[in-house]
Amino acid sequence: ARPGDELGRLTTTINDLLARLEASFARREEALARQRRFAADASHELRTPLTSIAGYARMLKSWGLENREAGREGVEAILEESERMRVLVEDLLVVARGDEGGMPLEPAPNDLGALAAEAVGAARAAAGGKVVVQYVPPKEPVGAVFDGARIRRAADILLDNAVKYTPEGGVVTVGVAREGGLLRLRVSDTGAGIPKEDLPRVFERFYRADPARSEGGTGLGLSIARQIARAHGGEVEAASRPGKGSTFVLSLPENGPG
Ligand code: ADP
Repeated sequence: ARPGDELGRLTTTINDLLARLEASFARREEALARQRRFAADASHELRTPLTSIAGYARMLKSWGLENREAGREGVEAILEESERMRVLVEDLLVVARGDEGGMPLEPAPNDLGALAAEAVGAARAAAGGKVVVQYVPPKEPVGAVFDGARIRRAADILLDNAVKYTPEGGVVTVGVAREGGLLRLRVSDTGAGIPKEDLPRVFERFYRADPARSEGGTGLGLSIARQIARAHGGEVEAASRPGKGSTFVLSLPENGPG
């Protein structure tokens, strides 16, 4: 080979290498930016309950000890806000761990129908009559191998939302089914629904379609529910007709998480 050819090949190889390095740096930049955004969002979310805890503590310090009524109110508020913060920190941990690739699962044979019935019972108690929460049992048992505690958490998130975003007098309906190799848990509500443009975004972390309505929410629920489903090789999907209601469907492979 002539020296010119050698040089040409070498130049191509080096250019190729540089292009690959550049792409890899861009990917790292992106991951870093995502991490930075997550840290910023998380701090922001933690600051809210912390500020209110400090506020109530200051109130207690200056006059809550003399005034019993104000004292009790302050302590109650501090307990409530710390509980909110505990839930938030736990959610953040789940989300952060998921980022590192992988959520540890404890798969075991479970009945999705029994799980749904329990989740409905809890949601009904929490709803306190504001909305009707009904469970439609399947004709045949719907069972498979999955992490029962995690899937229960995902079901609770979908049910909490359905109750939270459905006005008084509405109906939340839960059903389970086996469809084409998948187990499905369906949560429908007669609530306000979700605008079409918001639908794909509700699964993003910290995303709240309507901050005014999302009182007390962290915006993490649906991203966690989806993370749990995906860890199982499943999915959570949403459909909605604004003004009519929304349906969230969690699907799981019937052959287990694999
Ligand atoms: P949040 O803590 O705000 O409920 P989620 O991640 O669970 O966080 O939900 C994200 C957003 O999606 C909510 O703020 C709300 O705007 C919207 N959303 C979720 N579920 C429903 C539902 N069943 N009906 C209407 N909007 C919903």
